[in-house]
Amino acid sequence: MNFDILVIGAGPAGLHAAHVVAQAGASVGLVDDNALPGGQIWRQGPRHRPTGRAREAIDALSREARITRWSGTRVVAALENRRILVEDATRGMALGYGKLIVATGARERFLPYPGWTLPGVTGAGGLQALIKGGLPVSGKRIVIAGTGPLLLAAAVTAREQGARVMAIVEQAPPAAVRRFATGLVLTPAKLVAAARMRFGLRATRYLWGAHVTQALGETHVTHARIRHGDGETEIECDLLACAYGLVPNTLVGAALGCRVEATETETRGEAALAVDTWQATSVPDIYAAGECTGVGGMELAAVEGRIAAHAALGERERAQALFGARERHRRFAARLRDAFALDPRLRELAAPGTLLCRCEDVTFGDAARHRSWRDAKLHTRCGMGPCQGRICGDAAAFCFGWPRDGQRAPLSPARIATLIDAVSIDAPPHA
Ligand SMILES: Cc1cc2nc3c(=O)[nH]c(=O)nc-3n(C[C@H](O)[C@H](O)[C@H](O)COP(=O)(O)OP(=O)(O)OC[C@H]3O[C@@H](n4cnc5c(N)ncnc54)[C@H](O)[C@@H]3O)c2cc1C
Repeated sequence: MNFDILVIGAGPAGLHAAHVVAQAGASVGLVDDNALPGGQIWRQGPRHRPTGRAREAIDALSREARITRWSGTRVVAALENRRILVEDATRGMALGYGKLIVATGARERFLPYPGWTLPGVTGAGGLQALIKGGLPVSGKRIVIAGTGPLLLAAAVTAREQGARVMAIVEQAPPAAVRRFATGLVLTPAKLVAAARMRFGLRATRYLWGAHVTQALGETHVTHARIRHGDGETEIECDLLACAYGLVPNTLVGAALGCRVEATETETRGEAALAVDTWQATSVPDIYAAGECTGVGGMELAAVEGRIAAHAALGERERAQALFGARERHRRFAARLRDAFALDPRLRELAAPGTLLCRCEDVTFGDAARHRSWRDAKLHTRCGMGPCQGRICGDAAAFCFGWPRDGQRAPLSPARIATLIDAVSIDAPPHA
């Protein structure tokens, strides 16, 4: 199967890109590993049907006959000759493209602290995704912790489903959060959305300049221990949702050979797919858009998706007409980064015996003895389990300042039959 343009990721960036391409009359393939389109912010579930802007983008997709959708389908490897290997629940296959738009978004950053692997502990967005997927939380006591506006969004989702949000714990200091809130006047729609969320959560305890130091419990989390100023407090909970912002998901782009570079927030150990003004990556005919190129929110992702699509179609003037909007949203992204910069003390939460790599049972102390991510991997198997370092790799990047090395295919666990097929697809005809 071959497409003029193949888009990977059906979040705001990928949906807008696919729509622009289809409108221009080209054939589009849209690959996404979720069951339904929408990505992270517009994630659909049994009790979560899209509304407003999400509804518009998803409906526009359904109306386009030129878009072939591959939902529940993961990219597991890049193949030769403009093809990628994908796998769904039943089979693996190769998809061909003339041009490619990578729109794989971001994932949450988890940092290790004692108790973080206890059942009942998740990320903030992770808990939100579970709830949207149908996890019952009615009457559950939840502490939501970490950093950034995602904490509020997750709290609203939990509350709507009947959970008792015991506290929102934000690591950024009060002055930084206030500065960020004041700056929202420059983006009135976001100001209204934030005010609405905050008003809905007005009775919820909100701690700034605070972070979780330990999750307590024998077989399941029962309390979160929180450092706030010079003191510590414990809050009872059935669920603790804690994550420290987002990290660009560069895996697919990197596997395709696109350059990955440290972002402005280098101190967080963060890297993103490098793109030029046309959203073109370092590899000819491969573009990237949305949070895989840097975290900046839904509006920035959507406009980048449209720019990438116009540029891929050779419609440079139409792409250029969107540069102003992109610049405005980038300024918002910069304010977001400044306000929610990570407190360096978060590097020291883990004890030597705290697990860093939960797939391979490697402790923080064992990993810390090594000089680099590669060294730690070779000596301890850290990051070499089923999640392939998606969790511990970003934690190690922040805690030890280790740049990540490239990841080899398969990018996620894949069936052996898919990988065998890939070898025969790539083999010369008479081999
Ligand atoms: C867990 C989580 C929850 C979030 N919730 C909110 C929220 O409530 N409100 C808010 O304002 N922002 C939220 N965000 C931020 C949000 O990610 C962005 O603002 C916005 O969704 C970015 O759009 P995007 O198109 O760049 O990426 P995404 O929306 O992340 O879309 C990328 C898509 O690519 C898919 N993908 C990635 N790798 C592969 C692969 N190998 N094969 C196939 N598909 C792949 C992903 O599953 C995803 O569907 C959340 C982020 C995360 C990580």
